[in-house]
Amino acid sequence: MSITRRTLLVGAGAGAVGLLLAACTPEPQPAPTRTKTPVPRPTAPEAVPAPAGWLRSAWASDPYSFGSTSYLPAGADPTERERLAESVLDRVFFAGEATDTTRPGTVVGAVDDARRASLEIVSVAEDTERLAVVGAGAAGVIAARMLADAGHEVTLFEARERIGGRIRSVADDEQWPIPPQLGAWLLSEDDLASLDDRLVDMGDHTVTLDVPTAWNADGEAPGLDRAPIAQAVEKAQAQASDAPIAEALSANGADLDDPALAASLAWMAAITGADPSRASSWYPPRFPEGAVHGVIGDLDGFLEKQLEDVRVATASPVSRIAYDERGVSLRLGTGEALSFDRVIVTAPVGVLQKQGIEFAPALPFSHRGAIAALASGFIETVWMRFDKAFWATEATIWHVVGGDAMIRTWLNLQPFTGEPVLVGLVGAADAEQFAELSERDAALAARASLVFFAEPEADEG
Ligand SMILES: Cc1cc2nc3c(=O)[nH]c(=O)nc-3n(C[C@H](O)[C@H](O)[C@H](O)COP(=O)(O)OP(=O)(O)OC[C@H]3O[C@@H](n4cnc5c(N)ncnc54)[C@H](O)[C@@H]3O)c2cc1C
Repeated sequence: MSITRRTLLVGAGAGAVGLLLAACTPEPQPAPTRTKTPVPRPTAPEAVPAPAGWLRSAWASDPYSFGSTSYLPAGADPTERERLAESVLDRVFFAGEATDTTRPGTVVGAVDDARRASLEIVSVAEDTERLAVVGAGAAGVIAARMLADAGHEVTLFEARERIGGRIRSVADDEQWPIPPQLGAWLLSEDDLASLDDRLVDMGDHTVTLDVPTAWNADGEAPGLDRAPIAQAVEKAQAQASDAPIAEALSANGADLDDPALAASLAWMAAITGADPSRASSWYPPRFPEGAVHGVIGDLDGFLEKQLEDVRVATASPVSRIAYDERGVSLRLGTGEALSFDRVIVTAPVGVLQKQGIEFAPALPFSHRGAIAALASGFIETVWMRFDKAFWATEATIWHVVGGDAMIRTWLNLQPFTGEPVLVGLVGAADAEQFAELSERDAALAARASLVFFAEPEADEG
């Protein structure tokens, strides 16, 4: 790629915006359809009270995400992401968490990848070109900002009525001490260090959740043991072919029903969305050892501010992208068609897999192969505020070991907010099941998942 003066300018400007954005974070072979087990009807234990405040996500069924993160299933490798990231005729460009190879599945990855795609467009575009960006998540916002800073006429099309994509803050001062985050808000140590590399001062905007504990029916239990996963992955990486992590564990003699191992796998799934029965052991998803950093505040509002002078069309799903050597034409859900010189598509891989956007002509085989090869992971979250704490621990990360909890990862925000707020995280198949529950059943399942933390009722005799 040749570096023009404008490229350099954009690179510099984007650095600043990228830092800010980063600081705010922390079909050849269709995927097989899994047989779903019936969702059990949960009952809540009396010791866990009904919450006074309650919010939950449902990304699995959201038609503009159909999932939470991308990951590599067994048999796929990181070149799938690179293949998807290649531009088509220098007219259609792809960006987002799925096309980043360094930190895929994260906000930092999405932002970095948007910078990559924007620089690629700028290196080929004339000054007066009209550019379109599809999707106003972290990647789309940063791309639109960069391209506008480079002097292009940019229009950002967003299917939903709001900006942010898989970042979703609910600002409600009256109900909640901090805005509940229904999407991304956690950073691993690694992500945090990468922000430090970029001279970002996270300052007062993060909380550190660094006291992990494990709980079973008898109370606090020994912590999670990730060793079986690490050992199985290491052995699997010496094999002739890739195998899913769960298979690699069984081949290594691990008991998948062991409560401590099940809890470790649940933590992996809750943070990465990856299903152990599908995720590659050659390229396993990275998940934090223990501590995570939560970015607090109105993240959607922050993203919106980046777009103050950009033309943004919300509630404008793009249904079709036609392209040739001369340009692109976008058709909106309303039937309206608009012409541009080039487009960056940031729609999630779940949307591309379900052909939420039609391409004309069809994308090259390498792109379609890459879209089919990546897996769409699932993470759902619940935020619960109680009138008073029913737990007695100050630990900030709780893992449920044993029992039949649907949500096995809990974050205790009371030490930071002074209010009894718990955040549940559930991943992979359990997240898909959780997303299907009615509001009432989801609340019961969440309460049932907390039974090990409830103080036993005082003896009245
Ligand atoms: C519950 C949950 C928890 C997560 N936790 C973390 C975390 O703690 N840390 C972390 O780093 N990452 C986390 N992630 C992942 C993170 O949210 C994503 O990696 C990142 O936000 C992706 O950004 P993006 O811009 O690539 O995609 P998105 O944010 O999904 O943006 C794509 C946009 O495209 C829009 N769109 C889709 N189809 C169309 C269409 N046809 N026309 C127009 N617009 C369309 C969508 O509405 C969306 O706004 C989490 C995700 C979820 C769901």
